[in-house]
Amino acid sequence: MSKNKFETDAIRTQMERSEFLEHSTPLHLTSSFIFEDAEDMRASFAEEKQRNIYSRFTNPNTSEFIDKMCKLEGAESGYAFATGMAAVFSTFAALLNAGDHIVSARSIFGSTHTLFTKFLPKWNIETSYFKIDEVEKIESLIQPNTKILYLESPTNPAVDILDLELLGHIAKKHNLIYIIDNCFATPYLQNPIKFGADLVIHSATKLIDGQGRVLGGVTVGRADLIREIYLFSRNTGPALSPFNAWILSKSLETLGVRVDRHCENALKVAEFLEAHDKVALVKYPFLKSHPQYELAKKQMKHGGNVVAFEVKGGIEAGKHFLNQLKMLSLSANLGDTRSIATHPASTTHSKLNEIERLGVGIADGLVRISVGLEHVDDIIADLKQALEIV
Ligand SMILES: *Cc1c(COP(=O)(O)O)cnc(C)c1O
Repeated sequence: MSKNKFETDAIRTQMERSEFLEHSTPLHLTSSFIFEDAEDMRASFAEEKQRNIYSRFTNPNTSEFIDKMCKLEGAESGYAFATGMAAVFSTFAALLNAGDHIVSARSIFGSTHTLFTKFLPKWNIETSYFKIDEVEKIESLIQPNTKILYLESPTNPAVDILDLELLGHIAKKHNLIYIIDNCFATPYLQNPIKFGADLVIHSATKLIDGQGRVLGGVTVGRADLIREIYLFSRNTGPALSPFNAWILSKSLETLGVRVDRHCENALKVAEFLEAHDKVALVKYPFLKSHPQYELAKKQMKHGGNVVAFEVKGGIEAGKHFLNQLKMLSLSANLGDTRSIATHPASTTHSKLNEIERLGVGIADGLVRISVGLEHVDDIIADLKQALEIV
């Protein structure tokens, strides 16, 4: 475990300098690496020495990004992927056998849900779901073939909070691999390994890049599990590109200051919305009115950058509100410097019916704001003028 504080590790975790003594990390755009002689090549392939062979396996830039993520999450080991979904899929594919079973929170990222419902069943891997307010039901969902307990907190898009420590105890008691997608919190706000997680997954596309430029993903955690994920991935090819790894490692240098400001802006936006008479409900983990406020305070440093709220007047009012925005972008991403608004009921969750949507905390008028780094007065001014018209 590193003794440094978060910001220091985020900046000072760096690959060895080359003969040029560069200050900032250089980019190693090379698909392969050369060997001294035939014996060096044999020993390298036999893993008798730790060295780079081929960039699908390891590369200095991806290794730097992984080492840094491990320090920031307090993890033993990791592997980096081309996207967050490549991290999610490869983690499950590497660890599960046909016939295994997953217990998962119902409120999870849309593509992860599609993986569980549409693709993993092809290999006879089924998933049982619990709702965030039925945590007491989890143990009744566990079967003899259950292998993984999976969740996200805060959830998307309703920003509900699950008790990481409590679920960690359940996972341990039943000998399950406990996996958390920590994308909304980032390692700066929350370290699931402290609460018993065996593996932590991130879409680095979001706040880790934080500038809407590249896709990336990473899984970190227990070395024995990461070894399986590494072997699966080095043979199937979901690796992160060295260029994107270089960008993401640089981005981590500023993660702390960026996320501090994101959260400060988000809290002000949430407070503004809560006081507005055209808003029915605001969900933000660090608002006192949030149902899991105390729990959020216990497991997170700040409340994150996502604010969910309901415009009075249902689906039409939600869509109308989005159309009135002048500065906020309508975009599928989140965690960018630019503030983004989405309307889940008419987009990401439109395939669910109203009852199913309500089951995952999505009212028809629910709007999700990913609060960016523009001046908070300008963000609020845009929301204010859009709300005047709905
Ligand atoms: C975006 C996201 C993913 C998927 O990441 P990609 O980089 O888009 O593949 C997974 N989980 C959560 C919570 C996300 O927000």
